[in-house]
Amino acid sequence: ATEPRNKNDVLSSRKNTIGSTCQLFYSDDPFMVSRGSMQYLYDEQGNKFIDCISNVQHVGHCHPAVVKAISHQLATSTCNVRFVSPLLTDCAEQLLATLPHLDTVLFCNSGSEANDLALRLARDYTGHTDAIVIEHAYHGHVTTTMEMSPYKFDHGSSLKQPEWVHVAPCPDVYRGKYRLTDAEIKDEGKLLEAGEKYSKDVENIIKKAENNGRTVAAYFAEALQSCGGQVIPPAKYFQDVAKYVRQHGGVIVIDEVQTGFGRIGSKYWAHQLHDDGFVPDIVTMGKPMGNGFPVSAVVTKRKIADALGGKVGYFNTYGGNPVACAAVMSVMKVIKDENLLDHSEAMGQKLGVALKKLQETHPSIGDIRGVGLFWGIDLVKDRETREPDQKLALAVILELRRNYGVLLNADGPHTNILKIKPPLCFDQNNIDEVVNALDQVLTIMRR
Ligand code: PMP
Repeated sequence: ATEPRNKNDVLSSRKNTIGSTCQLFYSDDPFMVSRGSMQYLYDEQGNKFIDCISNVQHVGHCHPAVVKAISHQLATSTCNVRFVSPLLTDCAEQLLATLPHLDTVLFCNSGSEANDLALRLARDYTGHTDAIVIEHAYHGHVTTTMEMSPYKFDHGSSLKQPEWVHVAPCPDVYRGKYRLTDAEIKDEGKLLEAGEKYSKDVENIIKKAENNGRTVAAYFAEALQSCGGQVIPPAKYFQDVAKYVRQHGGVIVIDEVQTGFGRIGSKYWAHQLHDDGFVPDIVTMGKPMGNGFPVSAVVTKRKIADALGGKVGYFNTYGGNPVACAAVMSVMKVIKDENLLDHSEAMGQKLGVALKKLQETHPSIGDIRGVGLFWGIDLVKDRETREPDQKLALAVILELRRNYGVLLNADGPHTNILKIKPPLCFDQNNIDEVVNALDQVLTIMRR
C-alpha cells in the first residue's frame, strides 16, 4: 500500500501475523519507514533521520542507478539459474577481479546460505568435519551457522555448541584474553605479539581436536568482527592462523558479509586491510552486495568448488538469478563511478579523528575502533576495569533517535558498543551532525 498507515495499526497487525521472536530495532517503540533516500530514512510522519545502521543499503537507500538496473532486469527476465545468462558470468568476472587469488563463484541468496555452503565445500574438499570459529562470532541464522555462532549459542539459543565446533579466543586486544594497555595498543610491536599469542591458541585448538580424534575442515572468521564487537585483529594474525590450519589440512573461510565492498575504505575486502599477503581459501559475501536486493556468494578456488557434493551438483533456485546479478553489477558500478572506496576511506579518517577527540572529553568512551565507514564506540562504566556499560549504550541510542534525528544501534557481546555503519555516501556534514549529537547526549547522560 502506498497510503500512509498508522504505525499502531501496523504494529497490532504485526502482533497477530508475525512471529513474536522476529527482531526489531528499538523494540519498545519500533521505527516505521515511510521512505528512504541515500543516507536518510524518514519515519511514518515524514521526519528525516541520518541512518547509521543500514550497512545493507550500501551505496544509499534507493540509489537511482541500482533501482534502474534492478527494474530493467525485472522487466526483461527473471529466469532461474539452470538457464544460461551472461549476467551471471559478467557478475562473477567482476567479483573475481576484486579477489585476484580466487577464481570461482557460487551464488546464493543470503549470508547464512553462503556460510552454510562454505562449510559444505570445506568439508567435501578436505574430508574433515570440524569448524573453528571465534568467540562472539555470528555467521547466520540457519541451523549449521547458528551452531557456528557463539553470539547465539552463548546467549540462550536452543541450538548449543556441537562437538564439531571449536571456539578460539577473539583476537581482541582491548577486551579479549590477551589485553594491552591504552598505550600498548598504539605500539605495533605489542600488537604483533598479542596477535601471535592469539594465533597460537588456534594451533593448540587444532592439536587438541586431533588428539580427540577430530579433524578440522575450516577456520571461519570475519576479518573485522562486526556483531561480535567491532574487533580488528592484529596484522599477521590471519597469516599465522592460515599457516597452522593448512598444515593440519583445513581451509580458511573469511566471512565478508558485513565488511565487504569497500565498507572499510581503501580496500574492497576487510581481509585485505593489513596488506600482509594473507589470502583466504573461501570468501563469503552478502548484505551490501545487492544494496538491499537479496543476493550472496561464495568465492573460492576451482579445486575447492569442484569438490562439492559428489555427483549431486549445486542448484539454488534464486542464487545468481539475472535480477540479483544486475543488482550486484550496478552496486559495483556505483562504487567505481562515485569513488566510494576513497570516499569511505577519507570519511573514515575524519570520523576517527572526531571520535577520538570525543573520547578525550567523555570518560564513558573506553575505546574507539574502526576503519572506513565501520566504527565502534565501546562504552564503559570505568576506563580502568573496562566494564561494559550496556545501559548507557541503550539510553544513548534512544536519545539520539528521539531528539537528534540519528539512527544508531548498539551491539557486541555486552550490547555496549555503538556501531556506526552508514551507507557509504555518508558525508562530512553527517559526521559533524552525528559527532555533535553524540557529544551532547553523552554530556546529558553524565549529569
Ligand atoms: N555473517 C555475518 C558476519 C553477518 O553479520 C550476518 C548477518 N548479520 C550473516 C552472516 C548472515 O547473513 P543473512 O542474515 O543475510 O543470512
